[in-house]
Amino acid sequence: MPDIVVIGGGAAGLMAGITAAQQGASVVVLERMKEPGKKMMITGKGRCNFTNACPVEEFIPNLPGNGKFLFSALQQFSNEDLLRFFHERGLETVAERGGRVFPASGKAKDVIEVLTAALQQAGGRLVTGVQVSGFVVKPGQVTGVRYRNVENDGRREGQDFRSNTKGKVKLGPEHTLDAGAVIVCTGGASYPGTGSDGNFVPVLEKLGISVEPLLPALVPLEPEEGFIEDLEGLSLKNVEASVLADGKVAAKEFGELQFIRGGIAGPICLTMSRKVARLEHYNQPELELSIDLKPALSEDKLDARLMRDFQEFSKLRLAEVLRKLLPQPLVAPVLDAAFLDGSKPVIQISKEERLALVQAVKHFTIPIVGTRPLREAIVTAGGIALKEIDPKTMKAKRIGGLWFAGEVMDVDGYTGGFNLQAAFSSGYVAGLHASQMVLNNK
Ligand SMILES: Cc1cc2nc3c(=O)[nH]c(=O)nc-3n(C[C@H](O)[C@H](O)[C@H](O)COP(=O)(O)OP(=O)(O)OC[C@H]3O[C@@H](n4cnc5c(N)ncnc54)[C@H](O)[C@@H]3O)c2cc1C
Repeated sequence: MPDIVVIGGGAAGLMAGITAAQQGASVVVLERMKEPGKKMMITGKGRCNFTNACPVEEFIPNLPGNGKFLFSALQQFSNEDLLRFFHERGLETVAERGGRVFPASGKAKDVIEVLTAALQQAGGRLVTGVQVSGFVVKPGQVTGVRYRNVENDGRREGQDFRSNTKGKVKLGPEHTLDAGAVIVCTGGASYPGTGSDGNFVPVLEKLGISVEPLLPALVPLEPEEGFIEDLEGLSLKNVEASVLADGKVAAKEFGELQFIRGGIAGPICLTMSRKVARLEHYNQPELELSIDLKPALSEDKLDARLMRDFQEFSKLRLAEVLRKLLPQPLVAPVLDAAFLDGSKPVIQISKEERLALVQAVKHFTIPIVGTRPLREAIVTAGGIALKEIDPKTMKAKRIGGLWFAGEVMDVDGYTGGFNLQAAFSSGYVAGLHASQMVLNNK
């Protein structure tokens, strides 16, 4: 019987397995997909932004979903420790804009290869195509896992990773595997085609572990139907966008956003999406996205600018003058929002009409229904409730023999390498403490 069984061969699971094996424990990592690290393969657009070069204290504010919980884990295995781990194994890295660290080769595959080689070198075993379907338990204690061989992981070649595998996975008969300790690293539920689809939540709940609702974070916002069709493909830089919930500002960000098919994406929307998903799930207020298209100009200054433009181009029509101020696709929607006719010569525009235009530019408002679904999110907010876990060791507080790490826990961060570092740090801590406990008890 192995000392440690790790469930899930993603970032957290591989690091937990490596660390436990390095301590001298016998380790088996069970992964349901044919290969480990399917989600890691698509991170950072296939380049794997695996950590951030910022000082370690800055990780917690960049993990808005309960980052403080990882305070101890980040001390025990920091971004510098992770970089050392990779450098010692020959992986060259580069830090780019905003401290985002990538493998110098630009290939996520190289990160996964280093991890799987390190597991093997430490004496750990990786078994793929095996789905853990339950725990072996005795009162108050996990003593092993139940698993089934995956005969068909439900994915077709070339299928989008956002598609669901649920209901399509074909499994063999159930077997059991006893273990000194079990570390759960089954990930979140976004991009379910990577293998992390929330299948393990019912297993945890059956054991009596509380799980916070799985909600999307870092995901585009979803406008009400028919509101942005003419804007698809438009990218806006240096705008300020606010999410309004029942008319009150719930979140505000400055930067870049993009209108895509069926959604509003870009860094500022992804950042605010966590808040929007929670509002949608818990409060269901009326939601709007209000965009200040000219944040550098106060309302008075914008009005003065319009007056100047109207004088200078007095022979032109309103829509033509507005094209000098706004990207072309926004001219008609802004005119509509101000109830103005673009064919009117600017010379005929009244002060009230100009002020209505100022309001439409400073508060260009789109009703939103919430966020795009969880399967399209970069990260899952929610997961195993943190009251269940000791933050210094990642051990389950109420059940013996059980540890957790990675996105399966109720922790999530912004883009920039913070989510993968969270998985690596918690994986290291779980692997270290689980193996120490098992080896001490031998
Ligand atoms: C498109 C995209 C881009 C991203 N880019 C970045 C980025 O650049 N930087 C960053 O820091 N983060 C990024 N993330 C987030 C990051 O990928 C995750 O936070 C991270 O992979 C979580 O690691 P994990 O090990 O906890 O979970 P996962 O990597 O999801 O691994 C969980 C593993 O468990 C397996 N599993 C699940 N259930 C079972 C079961 N019952 N039995 C056996 N195995 C099971 C799954 O198949 C999976 O391989 C991105 C995410 C997405 C979707």
